[in-house]
This record gives sequence, C-alpha cells and structure tokens, in this order.
Amino acid sequence: MHEWSIVQGLLEAVHREARVHGASAVTRIRVRIGELSGVEIPLLEAAYQTFRERTLCERAPLEVLGVPARWTCAECERPVERGGWLRCAVCGRPARLTAGDEIVLERVELEIPSAAETAAGEAS
Ligand SMILES: [Zn+2]
Repeated sequence: MHEWSIVQGLLEAVHREARVHGASAVTRIRVRIGELSGVEIPLLEAAYQTFRERTLCERAPLEVLGVPARWTCAECERPVERGGWLRCAVCGRPARLTAGDEIVLERVELEIPSAAETAAGEAS
C-alpha cells in the first residue's frame, strides 16, 4: 500500500526533527495532503496508527489538512476554473496545476525536557 511508504517517510522526517531538538516525545503532527496527490487520507491515517506504536509519535495525533486542486494559467497566472476545459478564459493557454498534488509535513510539535529547554535558553 502506497500510503504505508508515505507514512514511513513522514515518520522519518518527524524523528529527525525530534532528534535535532532533543525532544522526548512528539505531541502533534500536521500534514497537508493534496486532492490529486494520490493519497487516500483514511488509509494514511490507518497506516499512521500502525507505525506510530512504540515510537516518539505514540501519543501524537495526526492532523490532516486536505488541499483542493487549483489551476492557474501558465501565461497570465489568472486562476482557471476547475472542471471542464482547463484553459485560461482570457488568453486560452493550458492551465498549470498550482496546488493539490502536495504531500507536506507542515508542523511537528515536540515535548522537550525542561533541562534541554534551559540549556537552549542560556545559549541564545
Ligand atoms: Zn491566461
């Protein structure tokens, strides 16, 4: 299943972030998933439930923001209406997809032990 490898990739990125900041746990993850990314959001959520066990993400809810597809004229950059003929109403050029195919890890919230926080505070 496609979504499993996506979740594995997301968790790797989250764990990298957690290590950089010396976090003891991840408290929340937010991802943006485009309508045309080919990701089934319920499958993504199910895969996350499986993979987060016994990781730093065990207690972190996964927040998924669905992003609708959006097209823009490649020439004049006017927005192009979805559905039907994907061409600019003004100059007739084919539209270009400008949103809706993304898979983005938007936000990771971490729990950082207070000792590390103090150290970071002193350093800055
Ligand atoms: Zn145009």
